[in-house]
Amino acid sequence: MSTNFLFTGRVVVIATMHEKEKAIAPILEAELGVQCVVPNDFNTDIFGTFTRDIARPADQITTAKLKAKKALEITGETIAIASEGSFAPHPDLPFISSNQEIVVFIDTLNQLEIVGQEISTETNFNSQSIRTVEEADSFAREIGFPSHGLVVMLNPNSSDREEIFKGINTAEKLREIVTFALSKSLTGKVHIETDMRALYNPTRMQNIAKATRNLIQKISQICPNCACPGFDAIAYRRGLPCGLCNLPTSAIRSVVYQCQRCSFQQENLFPQGVKVADPSQCMYCNP
Ligand SMILES: [Zn+2]
Ligand SMILES: [Zn+2]
Repeated sequence: MSTNFLFTGRVVVIATMHEKEKAIAPILEAELGVQCVVPNDFNTDIFGTFTRDIARPADQITTAKLKAKKALEITGETIAIASEGSFAPHPDLPFISSNQEIVVFIDTLNQLEIVGQEISTETNFNSQSIRTVEEADSFAREIGFPSHGLVVMLNPNSSDREEIFKGINTAEKLREIVTFALSKSLTGKVHIETDMRALYNPTRMQNIAKATRNLIQKISQICPNCACPGFDAIAYRRGLPCGLCNLPTSAIRSVVYQCQRCSFQQENLFPQGVKVADPSQCMYCNP
């Protein structure tokens, strides 16, 4: 079923100052028939920065919703999109960095809040303490510089903005800033890290595009009861039976979907396409 009639021809405000519209707008315009705009001088830094000089006010989804609502307030429009990224060890692979991107869609006319997400190990997220320009150059080579930008700080724990140099994306600028920062450093070391802002990080931009694709998928999931878009998973139930002894295991047995408008629920069995768990996941067969 198509949900496009709800959104066709409407304006979508993209709450960004880091050119995220480059990843988000083409997908939204093609899939929903909307027209995307970016508000002028929209300062998203007040909602937190990766470089820690401004702390994020709340968790990732809440922060994105705050941004989207601010954009609606400024423009007077009725649909806004905001995205938030975070970087952490992968939930299943603790030695590998991962990037979680979420994209929040708010439609005040239809009272919808729909969230798309992408968790990817495709990220150059990294940092290091360096003592020389050569060490900076070698770190830069590893993280895909100069298409991916860098940040240099005198002290990674300081929130002093005068000691943070962001958006470094030429070899000349990198050498100049590292030389300057080393001359100011009391320890002989400075901190260098990847600039994770979307416009300085094409790998992150791709993950934002994937989260936007996931959002389009969520929008196309329609409540069987009232046809509201965004019929989404709210819980995963464990207890898939063991293939050997038939006792319940910790593997997922079903997913519960719920409509945000009419609260209709539907439980879908065996989301992974298998009806029994491998005995290696069974507490009885493999204690
Ligand atoms: Zn419904
Ligand atoms: Zn078993």
